[in-house]
Amino acid sequence: MKIIFALILALLAVSISAFADPGHWQGKQRAVVLLLEWKNQPAKHSVAEVNEVFFGEGKSSVRDFLRENSAGTADLTGDVRNWLRTEQTWNGSDSCDLDRIVNEAWQKFSRAINIADYDSDHDGKIDNLFIVHSGRINSDRVGPSCAFTESRFANHTIVFQSEGLGSIGQQIPIGFYLHEAGHAYFGFPDLYNDHYHGHYGIGMWGMMGLGAWGTDNRMRREDMFRYPSHFEPYSKVQIGWVTPHVVSQTTQHVSIRAVEASGDIVAIPVGSNTSYYLEYRSAQGFSRDHRGHGLLIWKNYELIQADGRNDLDHGHNLGHRPVPPNDENFGDDSDPFPGSGNVTFHEDRDAHVRIENIAQFADHMEFDVRMLDGFKARRWKRPHPAPMDFQGIDFSIRPLDF
Ligand SMILES: [Zn+2]
Repeated sequence: MKIIFALILALLAVSISAFADPGHWQGKQRAVVLLLEWKNQPAKHSVAEVNEVFFGEGKSSVRDFLRENSAGTADLTGDVRNWLRTEQTWNGSDSCDLDRIVNEAWQKFSRAINIADYDSDHDGKIDNLFIVHSGRINSDRVGPSCAFTESRFANHTIVFQSEGLGSIGQQIPIGFYLHEAGHAYFGFPDLYNDHYHGHYGIGMWGMMGLGAWGTDNRMRREDMFRYPSHFEPYSKVQIGWVTPHVVSQTTQHVSIRAVEASGDIVAIPVGSNTSYYLEYRSAQGFSRDHRGHGLLIWKNYELIQADGRNDLDHGHNLGHRPVPPNDENFGDDSDPFPGSGNVTFHEDRDAHVRIENIAQFADHMEFDVRMLDGFKARRWKRPHPAPMDFQGIDFSIRPLDF
């Protein structure tokens, strides 16, 4: 009886692994991008431009983003299929009908597509199906229900408008896709707080915050969602992209390389489900335009601002969303350590830990970790994400979402 049961379990495991979808942003995946032009909305981006946005190397593409954020463990390659025109028309106020968009695109393109070319896990489905269409949604409040859907030909199906997001921007909004996928694939929270009223959460320092928009609040509005920030270290370890170097006792001269080039993250466990996460955000890759560079110190998702001013929580009560460019503080050059304020330590007396002698060099940073009296050493455990069944999410409960 037991043997039969074990055999059934083994068969089940084999069949699940044989037909499992390729996982969210794991390993080498494939994608096909279909360009759909509505009869009344001429396309404004060339196929070469779209190819650069999704697959270009050194072009701040989706491929670059995934490789840079995952320390090279996630890769995405594929093709862009040239614009095909549909006889259907676009109506900007009735525009989140994803079934209509996907069906129309698939009808136009399916004859010319060999699914096996985009099916890395051989489950008979395209790994990632991206549909980019001409025309705009009239609203500036656009949520995940206007982007994520399901189709029987693909494991992941995502719809983009080619010109910004809703009424804002001119570029294909890859930051929107990456942010919303953070919710849909991993259950990550929004970290931009009540940004209508001067509370900016982590500001532009992370993808789940205002970093989905970009990395500098002085950025051009037309570039919104095109050059987003890295994911937070706490998100990266949940996705499984990086395994941190764990420091759980007093240690001098801890060295950490640029996160963009190495994926280096240092974890200091200070509670059963709480760790400090340290990273060197350097002036390269997707981090090049941040207003400052240096060591970012996070306590899970909480960003420790080196200047101690907590500017990110003391913006103006505008009563509306401060879309870039603006004069609000979405993160500044004294948030990283040592930063423009030359702050070389952070002490947490409740957690009995002090990070000190923080020094920045060209290609790495160094610091000491000193455990204070009362510190209790713990093992680091990888936090597990809580993936959402996005079909079942009531998106209306996140009214501030973008
Ligand atoms: Zn969100």
